[in-house]
Amino acid sequence: MLCLGKNYEKHAKEMGGEVPPNPVVFLKPSTALLGDGGTVLIPAISNDLHHEVELVVVIGKHGRDIAPEHAMEYILGYAVGLDMTLRDVQSAAKKRGEPWAVAKGFDTSAPIGNVVPKEQVPDPHSLMLNLTVNGQVRQHGSTAEMILNIPQIISYLSSIYTLEPGDCIFTGTPEGVSQVQPGDLLVAEIEGVSSLRVGVGRR
Ligand code: MG
Repeated sequence: MLCLGKNYEKHAKEMGGEVPPNPVVFLKPSTALLGDGGTVLIPAISNDLHHEVELVVVIGKHGRDIAPEHAMEYILGYAVGLDMTLRDVQSAAKKRGEPWAVAKGFDTSAPIGNVVPKEQVPDPHSLMLNLTVNGQVRQHGSTAEMILNIPQIISYLSSIYTLEPGDCIFTGTPEGVSQVQPGDLLVAEIEGVSSLRVGVGRR
């Protein structure tokens, strides 16, 4: 799983920073994947789990150095995803200049909903992302607000990493990220496309 950070201006600002000159990229291992109905487990090292609802682009074919004008040909489909983040661990890592591998890549940190074939999504740049916690709306934004659009993301990532079928690209989160607690129920959706329900617990 390849992930972009700070790809929405208002979220970059709420994190106390500006939009970075180059995309912020991080990875999650395959063991971070969690399906619909699962439970995100907070590891013992953290007391501050945050949600980030995101459009996930699923890659359908092998490619590298993909030009933006051909990028959409490499997509299999789309899903809603949650980039679950240990914010206290991430903040400490940022202060020390350390990587985000723990804060972003722990087991269950990547819930992903049903994948919808790209043919059923005529315009992935006009999708509404929504996240509720215990029925209350916490995040609501449009993929139209992404700083790098999908072809730019695929082109950039494929200039660094070879893309493989099944790779999942988390495209960044709109503003409104906040803490969740054990026992909470999160419902994420891309309106009309993909949905996801997960609980929160402690490992
Ligand atoms: Mg994110």
